[in-house]
Amino acid sequence: MSSIPGSASPQVPGDYASFYQRSVEQPEAFWREQAALIEWQTPFQQACDYGRPPFAKWFVGGTTNLCHNAVDRHARDRGDQNALIWVSTEVKEERIYSFRELQREVERMAAILQAQGVGQGDRVLIYMPMIPEAAFAMLACARIGAIHSVVFGGFASVSLASRIDDASPKLIVSADAGSRSGKVVPYKHLLDEAIQLAKHKPQAVLMVDRGLAAFERVAGRDLDYAAQREQHKDAQVPCAWLESNAVSYTLYTSGTTGKPKGVQRDVGGYAVALAASMKHIYCGNAGETYFSTSDIGWVVGHSYIIYGPLIAGMATLMYEGLPTVPDAGIWWQLVERFKVTVMFSAPTAVRVLKKQDPAYLAKYDLSSLRALFLAGEPLDEPTATWIAQSLGRPIIDNYWQTETGWPILSIANGVEKKPSKFGSPGVAMYGYKVKLLNESTGEELTGANQKGVVAIEGPLPPGCLQTVWGDDARFVNTYWSSIPDKLVYSTFDWGIRDEDGYYYILGRTDDVINVAGHRLGTREIEESIASHPNVAEVAVVGVADALKGQVAMAFAVLKDASRAATEEGARQQEAEIMKRVDEQLGAVARPARVRFVSVLPKTRSGKLLRRAIQAVCEQRDPGDLTTIEDPTALQQIRSLVGG
Ligand code: ATP
Ligand code: MG
Repeated sequence: MSSIPGSASPQVPGDYASFYQRSVEQPEAFWREQAALIEWQTPFQQACDYGRPPFAKWFVGGTTNLCHNAVDRHARDRGDQNALIWVSTEVKEERIYSFRELQREVERMAAILQAQGVGQGDRVLIYMPMIPEAAFAMLACARIGAIHSVVFGGFASVSLASRIDDASPKLIVSADAGSRSGKVVPYKHLLDEAIQLAKHKPQAVLMVDRGLAAFERVAGRDLDYAAQREQHKDAQVPCAWLESNAVSYTLYTSGTTGKPKGVQRDVGGYAVALAASMKHIYCGNAGETYFSTSDIGWVVGHSYIIYGPLIAGMATLMYEGLPTVPDAGIWWQLVERFKVTVMFSAPTAVRVLKKQDPAYLAKYDLSSLRALFLAGEPLDEPTATWIAQSLGRPIIDNYWQTETGWPILSIANGVEKKPSKFGSPGVAMYGYKVKLLNESTGEELTGANQKGVVAIEGPLPPGCLQTVWGDDARFVNTYWSSIPDKLVYSTFDWGIRDEDGYYYILGRTDDVINVAGHRLGTREIEESIASHPNVAEVAVVGVADALKGQVAMAFAVLKDASRAATEEGARQQEAEIMKRVDEQLGAVARPARVRFVSVLPKTRSGKLLRRAIQAVCEQRDPGDLTTIEDPTALQQIRSLVGG
């Protein structure tokens, strides 16, 4: 096993500007150094091959393995330390695995897969609740070079079927059920239906039976995990040494703006990117505990529940349950108990806590916690202030996408301590040549406080998507062709940058409303409405209007809904809200209507489905709704607008 020694020029500590500069001006040397954070079986010959833009290849010729770097090397060096801490408040169970124990479990799982003929390059679909076996399955795939495709547990059979067809897995790993708020959510009938619906049929289904829900077994296809594990109890399965650009996994985007895209990721670049981010951005050290409240079905779960913390030699805390059960102190209780040093969550989860008694946050000793990172959607100022004050700990907003796998914008406190600014996810992270571009001319906006599309000049740094799974043309056409005459990656988000290089994300490019020639971001209007004391949450969309081109429509959830229960009350709330927007943004931004609903349509990952609301308002087909959390939310809107 060889480690590539860092090249001659060491990083200058305490100076992020030169660290960043070097990363974009001398990427070969910069990333060669970062590559020394992981172990390689054979050294790479070239850090980056960008001979066929926009397809980038990182660490060409090097061989390594994600599971080796996440598990085996720590089992060797720190075998007795905690690797995976699993806590379920749903089934009231806890399990802790040391690195050595984790390696044994992963080897057993790998042996089961191999016995079913799963090998390098074969796909394995993982449709699982948040249980340790899901982590074993992901790591086992990484170990033998199989490509995992994790689908959020509990997705409806139609969504699952389309992902089965896209990934064409040889084997599916699943469980009898998940659990949400104490209610069992059976999976098996959904899986069976999905396999029926799909054109592709897996050869085998490996079932983890938690004893939560009875299910039928399909003879000759379904295998029992416990029995298989027993059979392969003593299995030893070495890591397959994979060329850095082999495919590690595919994962679908959240589907906020349309049909989800199957992001394809490599092995070596991803391992290096995560190791570097753990050092420079999250500042997590081996032997400590990392707690990400996400789900393995999302990119945050891949990068920062499973691979990132383990690669850094940290214990990762995997939590099955809600943030409010048994009470709203549960996360902080876990922080105290396991001395969590780094935590990662989402604004949507913080907003849930914000509705609870803040005393829960003061009840536990949070002195181990160095920072709470939040990502996934805009962090509005009231939420940021509330959590910062209640926790008394630094809050770090970070901005990225399923596509990039790790932050585009953040604060690299591991390189230089920099303050966060409220409302900003921070500065461009090393390796990312972030630009703001004029949407129609493609011209770069170099001055401060100009609004443009957030774009990234190629090559994308290590860890980012290689392509769209099975569809290179979609990769090029979707991401690299939207800016006129420029081969540049578009994030499809609007942003501005201040004089200190801090970016502010203003919303998605398709969330802009054009009212009588004025271009308005939905986020600005939403923030204004959300500042009304009785508004809990709001969605604003642009709706076609014969006279003005588009008008803004607002749908709000009220804290005290009784105040809009009568027609008179609703009119009054609407008038108050409109007045507020008039005062804060001007009459041009005033929504044509403000309607009140009990719940807003969101993806399962907690993002507002504005495009679906807009479609319903315009009496159009809302399109792909496979990732919606609660379909009745859209029905409420439909009945309000008379669709
Ligand atoms: P799809 O691409 O399928 O429509 P999606 O974009 O919601 O879905 P994700 O990759 O999960 O899928 O989300 C990335 C997007 O989330 C970003 O492009 C941005 O719009 C938003 N986002 C993420 N983090 C932040 C943040 N810190 N601040 C503002 N917006 C954020
Ligand atoms: Mg997206």
